[in-house]
Amino acid sequence: MIQIDHVSKHYGAFQVLTDCSTTVAKGEVVVVCGPSGSGKSTLIKTVNGLEPIQGGRIIVDGVTVNDPKTNLSKLRSRVGMVFQHFELFPHLSIIENLMLAQLHVLGRGKDEAHDKGMRLLERVGLKAHASKAPGQLSGGQQQRVAIARALCMDPVVMLFDEPTSALDPEMVGEVLDVMTELATEGMTMMCVTHEMGFARRVADRVIFMDAGRIVEDRPKADFFDHPNSERAQQFLARIL
Ligand code: ATP
Ligand code: MG
Repeated sequence: MIQIDHVSKHYGAFQVLTDCSTTVAKGEVVVVCGPSGSGKSTLIKTVNGLEPIQGGRIIVDGVTVNDPKTNLSKLRSRVGMVFQHFELFPHLSIIENLMLAQLHVLGRGKDEAHDKGMRLLERVGLKAHASKAPGQLSGGQQQRVAIARALCMDPVVMLFDEPTSALDPEMVGEVLDVMTELATEGMTMMCVTHEMGFARRVADRVIFMDAGRIVEDRPKADFFDHPNSERAQQFLARIL
């Protein structure tokens, strides 16, 4: 579903990604972790073309992301992305936030977009909040709305970049629960997160990055029980 082949990227003289390769199969859940500045966000953003690359190639569901001929907005409508900050439109209601891209990107009709939005709000347990403004919801609730909004587009892949790291501790669980449910339903997911409990329960594989390289890419049990690199051992010792 996602193929990352020898990807390199630099900002000016600074090499942020060096020869990164991995694949994510359909239905697989891959957790990406590693120290701050190791390139996790950059890597995940290359997958939907938010960050261009200078070397290698990326293929998502048969589409070459770094091909200049690729229609990126069409691709992005099929690759859901949820960031640390929810980025809901504050002046629109929750249901309007969920309908917006359905209307303007997918060209769905109002009724269909509304029904789809309500179904997904129900799925994340927020149907009763449909007509509220984002500011009236807690951080955890807003992040669940952001996930529902991405799901409205019927994505083939979901990308997460530290979706719980800006939340108060008591709200982390409700967001991880929604992500766990998605994973159980067979969604293909690539998640940057330091929630190692989630990784242990839900991930199929764990990728560990350091200084722009993929240092480990292994089934989760291998990664947690026998990290190969000293860098990953240190990281796990600090975080667990
Ligand atoms: P964190 O855990 O702090 O989120 P990360 O692993 O997600 O870190 P990235 O955000 O991918 O790391 O950044 C990797 C490196 O690239 C960092 O050294 C960062 O300073 C640098 N970087 C990121 N974006 C830019 C940019 N637009 N221009 C220049 N350098 C950048
Ligand atoms: Mg980051």
